[in-house]
Amino acid sequence: MNRSRYIGLLLMLVWTSTATAQRAADTDDRATMLQRIDARRDSYATVAKQIWGFAEVGYQEEKSSALLQQQLRAAGFQVKAGVADIPTAFVATFGSGKPVIGIVGEFDALPGLSQEAQTAARHAIEDNAAGHGCGHNLLGTGALAAAVAVKEWLASSGHAGTLRYYGTPAEEGGSGKVYMVRAGLFGDVDAVVSWHPGDRNEASPTSSTANITGKFRFRGVAAHAAAAPDRGRSALDAVEAMDYMVNMMREHVPQETRIHYIITRGGAAPNVVPDFAEAYYYARQPNMRILDGVWERIVNAANGAALGTGTKMELEVTGAVYNVLPNEYLSGVMNRNLERIGGFSYTPEEAKFAEEIRKTLTDPPDVAIGSQEAVRPLRTGAVNSSSTDLADVSWTVPTVSMTAATFAPGVPAHSWQATACAGGTIGVKGMMVAAKSMALTTVDLFTDPAHIQKAKAEFDQKRGPNFKYTTRLADRKPALDYRK
Ligand SMILES: [Zn+2]
Repeated sequence: MNRSRYIGLLLMLVWTSTATAQRAADTDDRATMLQRIDARRDSYATVAKQIWGFAEVGYQEEKSSALLQQQLRAAGFQVKAGVADIPTAFVATFGSGKPVIGIVGEFDALPGLSQEAQTAARHAIEDNAAGHGCGHNLLGTGALAAAVAVKEWLASSGHAGTLRYYGTPAEEGGSGKVYMVRAGLFGDVDAVVSWHPGDRNEASPTSSTANITGKFRFRGVAAHAAAAPDRGRSALDAVEAMDYMVNMMREHVPQETRIHYIITRGGAAPNVVPDFAEAYYYARQPNMRILDGVWERIVNAANGAALGTGTKMELEVTGAVYNVLPNEYLSGVMNRNLERIGGFSYTPEEAKFAEEIRKTLTDPPDVAIGSQEAVRPLRTGAVNSSSTDLADVSWTVPTVSMTAATFAPGVPAHSWQATACAGGTIGVKGMMVAAKSMALTTVDLFTDPAHIQKAKAEFDQKRGPNFKYTTRLADRKPALDYRK
């Protein structure tokens, strides 16, 4: 062997063993990180239970937001609160430079879903009060657990980069993230990692429906309903006429469309012609452009109803979110980590509770108890008919999300059954799966620049060269009182 070949071989050996040592160190670091998350399980269970107990609805999450901020500050993050003109929105930052990875946490509750924890019969803690029927108490806390763990990993491994925790209020119909996107808070972010509670462990790249929401307010003329009905112009008539037209319209929209409404104001007494009435509408569609057209027709129905009833109509658009732009590459990365973490088993008490609560569902569930022990195989092209404001983030930054089995198999979100699970031990178990999978995924993104490059390439290709993000909420202030 000549001298230069010998040196070359020696260098290669050194390089290989360094790389091997590096990989072994990385593996150790990750294992340590996961152990730390596990070690703090009780503390995170307490935080999740506290937020569950606060049960604060959109834009009113003062205590929940403050608790998460306090946890992040204590862990060494710099916290900026009240961002994007939203008192309960915040961004917590650690580290500096590129890449910038965001972890998203939500924490708002749903009106009317108050329910005792881990109880398989309908028992509201307080009648008509709010409850965590979407498990956002777990969502915000699981994201916190992941962020703190990755922060410690960043600090000890010496990797460069910026980690952010986005505290995002009012996911449920308030479009909180849309205002945060609009404020440019995601402008320098390379990738976003999140999760959502559900009844299964899955990291498939699923989309969602785009959603536009608004309050249609009609003003008429009050009059004695018996003595002088001819002098009155009923605002409730306008709401009913609008609803009637929209209900007929259902037959003439693409069938994946969803339209729902409630009458939020319908008059004060039957013997007074109502001079004010209000309908609160949601319209959803897997395609934002089609939804735009459907929404215009709903607005036309409202205008027609006003014309026909001699009333005046005023519309407040309270929310607008896109359909999620899934990132298959990032979902693949997250799925590998979710598979590494795996599902979890129930204790006999948990299994009994799950069995009992499943009996309260309208239809027999299509997923079995025990399915929470496994990870669902990846599937592509699925579209959830629900909506999320994470969608607007996903059109701004490559975004990945997963589901963990925090609800008993078959229990749907937005139900009292979900509130019961989200406040109990099953919820915490699912949250831990999500926290660990998110932490590993975020570490992957910090460690290997190829992940971000590939995610970005897919993102650019899917958005197309001419895509420009716009929102119907372009110039409105956040609807901070939409739950009042
Ligand atoms: Zn939700």
